[in-house]
Amino acid sequence: MPMRVVIVGGGVMGAATACFLARDHGAAVTVLERDPTYARASSALSASSIRLQFSTPVNVALSRWSLAFLRRVGDELAVGGERPAIGLVEPGYLTLATAAGAPTLRASHAVQRAAGADVALLEPPALRARFGWLHVDDLALGALGLSGAQGGEGWFDGPALLQALRRKATACGARFVAAEATAFDTAGDRVRAVAAADGTRHAADAVVLAAGAWTATVAARLGVGLPVRPRKRDVFVFDTPAALPGCPLVVDPSGLWFRPEAHGFICGAPPREPWPGDPDEPPLEAIDHGLFDEVIWPALAHRVPALAALRLRSAWAGYYEMNLFDHNGLAGALPGWANAYTACGFSGHGMQQAPAVGCALAALIAGAPCDAPDLGPLSPARIARGEPLREIHVI
Ligand SMILES: Cc1cc2nc3c(=O)[nH]c(=O)nc-3n(C[C@H](O)[C@H](O)[C@H](O)COP(=O)(O)OP(=O)(O)OC[C@H]3O[C@@H](n4cnc5c(N)ncnc54)[C@H](O)[C@@H]3O)c2cc1C
Repeated sequence: MPMRVVIVGGGVMGAATACFLARDHGAAVTVLERDPTYARASSALSASSIRLQFSTPVNVALSRWSLAFLRRVGDELAVGGERPAIGLVEPGYLTLATAAGAPTLRASHAVQRAAGADVALLEPPALRARFGWLHVDDLALGALGLSGAQGGEGWFDGPALLQALRRKATACGARFVAAEATAFDTAGDRVRAVAAADGTRHAADAVVLAAGAWTATVAARLGVGLPVRPRKRDVFVFDTPAALPGCPLVVDPSGLWFRPEAHGFICGAPPREPWPGDPDEPPLEAIDHGLFDEVIWPALAHRVPALAALRLRSAWAGYYEMNLFDHNGLAGALPGWANAYTACGFSGHGMQQAPAVGCALAALIAGAPCDAPDLGPLSPARIARGEPLREIHVI
């Protein structure tokens, strides 16, 4: 009998894990997703960009593996001759630093190079020559991801990837069920079944908690405390008559980021201050327009003078599934349980890493080998050991 795996949460992490389990390991997979419209899911509200510019080697490795997967996604996730398209483009990330931030950028660059990533350091004259539209006078350094066999950074259609993973998983026998997981049947250190709000019970040989920003709530029902909380991020969409040839995803020393999207641009910045009331889950509808007017627009106009003329078109918000412990994913066995696993807490870089994490986690559950990076460094066991694996490049 095939191994029965129940996955709680059908976002990109749950769908990727389901896809690899069903496609590569013949598991009988059930995915419980409480909202098949994904109205509040991070995977539907993501900026869906991919980079190799991290400060921890495992993140470089996971994103590199995922990028290779995304480049051949049409083959990997084809169903009945239909090849999904996810619009991957690779103009790179450009991370900028003033003199104060340059040593950190150099240190991260050394990590990236050691992990085999093709990222170049550019001094201001080289930045000016390459990106004539960029104001560089107050900069000391920039790091630019180069495209090619060892490099590749850019962005893609995240919701299209999610749907392609779902479709492939379903074609390989996985079931996506519209239901909210509310309880677990357990015996000793094993989970035997997942109970849903609609009264259904789903027997399991293994369970995966992939409920995004809400995973801590689900894990608490197994008595496990996870430091993952929803943290709202606003994204603004603007048009401009300015042309910025070769524009990558630019990360400014101020915290501002921007990149081209369709015929305009999208941009964002870290939230300004804690929310009043329940700070854990501010409403997605409450866009902080002051963030754009008072922080983002001045920073944009400073960095790219041609963007002083822009028209704000729209805005949306989604939750980062923020791992407050060290801003890195938690992927692997759930402490204290013999057959429970999680993939959560990716703190703003989960969309790009879902293929590698899904492949590696599926192999771990199936007890099979896999060529995706080892998830060991992201094991949730590091929390109890008090050994954070801090990622400093959270955008
Ligand atoms: C504004 C924004 C920009 C981002 N930009 C990037 C980026 O550029 N690059 C990048 O790599 N990542 C980015 N991210 C992060 C990325 O989108 C997330 O890391 C990723 O989507 C997380 O996927 P997930 O499947 O873990 O969570 P989700 O997509 O949130 O899925 C979790 C699912 O679990 C379901 N669920 C919860 N509780 C239960 C329950 N009890 N029972 C059943 N179902 C349940 C929810 O309904 C939800 O659909 C961004 C995120 C946001 C919000």
